[in-house]
Amino acid sequence: MITANERTTQTRTRPDWRQSLRDAITDPRELLTLAGLPHLADRLPANAAGFALKVPRGFVARMRPGDPYDPLLLQVLPQLAELDEAPGFSDDAVGDLDSIAGHGVLHKYEGRALLIAAGSCAINCRYCFRRHFPYAEELAATHAWREALACLAADPSIREVILSGGDPLVLSTQKLTEFTFCLRNLPQIIRLRIHSRLPVVLPERIDAALIEWLAGLPMQRVMVLHANHPNELDASVGAACSRLREAGVTLLNQSVLLRGVNDDAAVLAELSERLFAFGVLPYYLHQLDRVRGTAHFEVPDEQARTLADALRARLPGYLVPRLVREAPGERSKRPL
Ligand SMILES: *Cc1c(COP(=O)(O)O)cnc(C)c1O
Ligand code: SF4
Repeated sequence: MITANERTTQTRTRPDWRQSLRDAITDPRELLTLAGLPHLADRLPANAAGFALKVPRGFVARMRPGDPYDPLLLQVLPQLAELDEAPGFSDDAVGDLDSIAGHGVLHKYEGRALLIAAGSCAINCRYCFRRHFPYAEELAATHAWREALACLAADPSIREVILSGGDPLVLSTQKLTEFTFCLRNLPQIIRLRIHSRLPVVLPERIDAALIEWLAGLPMQRVMVLHANHPNELDASVGAACSRLREAGVTLLNQSVLLRGVNDDAAVLAELSERLFAFGVLPYYLHQLDRVRGTAHFEVPDEQARTLADALRARLPGYLVPRLVREAPGERSKRPL
C-alpha cells in the first residue's frame, strides 16, 4: 500500500505527466504574471492572434523572471507582430495539406514514412506551421492506426516509420503500444523514430511505462528532440535523456533558427554543448517555414549561413547541426 506520505514524495520527484499537461498555462495574462511582466498585458493580441497559448509550468519555470526578451518566453507568448501580413508567408508553407488529408501518412522521402500520430502538443510554439493546420485531433487515434498501417504494408520500400504530429508523445503509452504491436507484422520496418518536444517541455512524460515500452521494442529506436535554446535544458531534461538512453534510444535534436531567440553563434554553440552533455547529438537547424504570422522570427539566409560557419569554426563537426530548409517537392530537406 502506498501511504499518503510516499505518494507526496513520488509526486515531488516526478509529477504525473497527464496532470502536468492538464495544468499547462493557457491564459496569456497568467503567463505574463508568472514571468514577472504583468504590465505587458496591454500588448497582447486579441484572441491570441488565432492560435491559443499553451505552455507547461515546468517550461515557464526555466524563464528569467522580468525579462521581456527571454528566449523561452518569446517562443510561446502571443505577439502583436503575428498579425502583420508578410509577403511569401502562407498557411501551408511546406505544401503538406494535400498529402495529409487522408490517412495521416506522409511519404515524401525514400525509405521513410512520417505518420501524423497526434494533432496536439504539450506546448504551442508561435513559429509553428501547426498554427494553421486544420487536421483533427482524433486523426490517427480514431482510425486506430488501421489505415496508416495498411499504407505502410502496401509499400515494402518503407523501412523507417516516423511518429510525428503534433506530438506523438501526447498519446497514451497504451495507444503507442497498440501501434507497435501491429508493426510486428511488418518486419521490413527496422527503425522507429519519434519526433517529440515533450522530453524538453514536459520531461515527466518519460515515465517508467514509456521507458518499458521503448526498451521492449524489437526495432531500433531514434528520438528527435526539439530544443532551440540552452536555457530549455535543465536537470529534469537531462534526467529524461538518461532514462531514454538507458532504454536504448538514440537521441538527436532539431532546432528552428529564430530571430531574437537563438540567432547567435554563442547561444547555438552552448545549445550543442549542453545537448551533448545529455547524450544528444545536434541533427538539424531548420530555417523557419514561411508560415503566416511568423515573419518576425525569420533570419535571412545570408545571416543563417554566417552563423553556421561560425559554429563550424568553434565546435567539433559532430556538434554542428545541418542547416536546412524544407521545400515542397524536394526529395530531402535542402541544405542551405
Ligand atoms: C522531415 C521529414 C522526414 C525526415 O527527414 P530526415 O531527413 O530523414 O530527418 C520524413 N518525412 C517527411 C514528410 C518529413 O517532412
Ligand atoms: S509541432 Fe513542435 S514546434 Fe509545433 S507547436 Fe508542436 S511542439 Fe511546437
